[in-house]
Amino acid sequence: MDILVIGGGGREHAICWSLAKSPKAGKLYCAPGNAGIGQVAELVPIQVHEFDKLAAFAEEKGVGLVVVGPDDPLADGIVDVFEAKNIPVFGPRKNAAHIEGSKTFMKDLLKKYGIPTAAYEKFDSYEPALAYLRSRPVPIVIKADGLAAGKGVTVAFTREQAEAALKDIMVEKVFGESGSQVVIEEFLEGQEMSILSFVDGETVRPMAAAQDHKQVYDGDKGQNTGGMGTYSPLPHIAPGIIEEAVETIIKPTAKAMVAEGRPFRGVLFAGLMITPDGKPKTIEFNARFGDPETQVVLPRLKSDLLDIFLAAVNGTLDQVEIEWSDEAAVCVVLASGGYPASYPKGLPIQGLDEVREALVFHAGTARNEAGAWVTNGGRVLGVVGLGQSIAEARDKAYQAAERITFEGKHNRTDIAAKALV
Ligand code: ATP
Repeated sequence: MDILVIGGGGREHAICWSLAKSPKAGKLYCAPGNAGIGQVAELVPIQVHEFDKLAAFAEEKGVGLVVVGPDDPLADGIVDVFEAKNIPVFGPRKNAAHIEGSKTFMKDLLKKYGIPTAAYEKFDSYEPALAYLRSRPVPIVIKADGLAAGKGVTVAFTREQAEAALKDIMVEKVFGESGSQVVIEEFLEGQEMSILSFVDGETVRPMAAAQDHKQVYDGDKGQNTGGMGTYSPLPHIAPGIIEEAVETIIKPTAKAMVAEGRPFRGVLFAGLMITPDGKPKTIEFNARFGDPETQVVLPRLKSDLLDIFLAAVNGTLDQVEIEWSDEAAVCVVLASGGYPASYPKGLPIQGLDEVREALVFHAGTARNEAGAWVTNGGRVLGVVGLGQSIAEARDKAYQAAERITFEGKHNRTDIAAKALV
């Protein structure tokens, strides 16, 4: 079966790499992909927002399955476009992707169905929001309603920070329409974890749990990024807590979406906080694979990813085999100097072809005229070590990360450290 994967980052490289292992996979296309993905799939020069062109391509090639990676096209209804043409597609429809696209929708849903999450109020105008904010203690969390490339959330430790964030969102409109509503939320203390699940309606099949590192510098310092590294499993978190999160948060949310007439099909990504009383609470839901969570989760999948996608599309997700290996995986992201602010592109990358001890997923690379690897994004590569323990996986990832060099290369040196104490 020929397959079209939509997206062009490390997540899509991991998805393509995993799909390519399936004996049932025929030709693999990726639109637009990146140079690294070009090693496992044929790149298609169509952008993720060109829905009609993508659908026409899928029809022309007779692809048997489309898999959508990024959040923006999902929120904009790309799945509905493929479904209207009877092209099998893995991903949530627009009305279900709304769980990520609108934080007020998500919070209201959780409140209505009694699903654990931080206490909150929502506002659509500045003055009442400010008055409420002034009545609350700090720390406090301010969130723009819509998608803001991971930048619409401020965890404010002072009143000044909190008021500045609110003003940016509602008065300066730095996130445009995404900031026309705001959620002001109780600050939750604790350990974060992510649980991604394959979901089809009320059927929830959890994947291995993972933990990411959002801030750019060691010790969780500096600006938030798309993600500087991840690891899986989470040996420092009791399995009972993961189970509790699935039973008290993820399954009830899938059920609630069905009850609301928005059945979810795709990957439901729960960002959770394990509060000091040991109870998991919801921080966010995403409507797709995480990046770079996918890079540590899929290498641990022993079953056939294509079978799982097809089962979700055909309504048989409850029957498909989904097995995970006991191996640990650690992903270290190699970023361009300057990221997440501005950074140069086109810098030569050395050592890439010498890596043997780790998997390398490309996030932002290209080939220059001579065919050599060059940087082409903020996050350039995700180096994934696998091992019998987190420590072994981490050592392999860092060994490989050192082999790869480019001018200005930056990576965190403490990925998975929390799992090793
Ligand atoms: P992304 O999609 O990039 O993960 P987002 O814009 O959807 O980000 P959230 O995941 O809601 O934003 O929040 C970003 C980060 O802010 C979280 O990973 C968490 O570290 C922190 N955060 C969010 N809400 C809270 C909260 N209530 N208490 C403490 N920290 C929080």
